[in-house]
Amino acid sequence: MNQFENELKNGKFVCSECINCNKLVWPPSDFCNVCFSKVKWRQVSKNGTLIEFAKKDNVIFCIAEFENAIRIMGELETGIKIPSIGQDLNLVQCNYDDKEKFFFRLK
Ligand SMILES: [Zn+2]
Repeated sequence: MNQFENELKNGKFVCSECINCNKLVWPPSDFCNVCFSKVKWRQVSKNGTLIEFAKKDNVIFCIAEFENAIRIMGELETGIKIPSIGQDLNLVQCNYDDKEKFFFRLK
């Protein structure tokens, strides 16, 4: 397991950030994919944007974007709201169980 998966297991969504060019490195890696410098790990903002969504059975799956750089897939909780692309959402939960699991809620 890498650092990313380890932190997810503890409910923390972290990403690697280059210590040289300050770029978020996605997918997470120990080295920058632009300048090959080392990275530091930091928590990602929980405020995201809805990019795409699809309903399957009674679950809404979506792609959400964070910090204009990271796109992840997860389950979307809408409450009484109807989702539309571009809407703001929050990351409410994450986990790692053989694969990454993310749960979002519309703002
Ligand atoms: Zn870099």
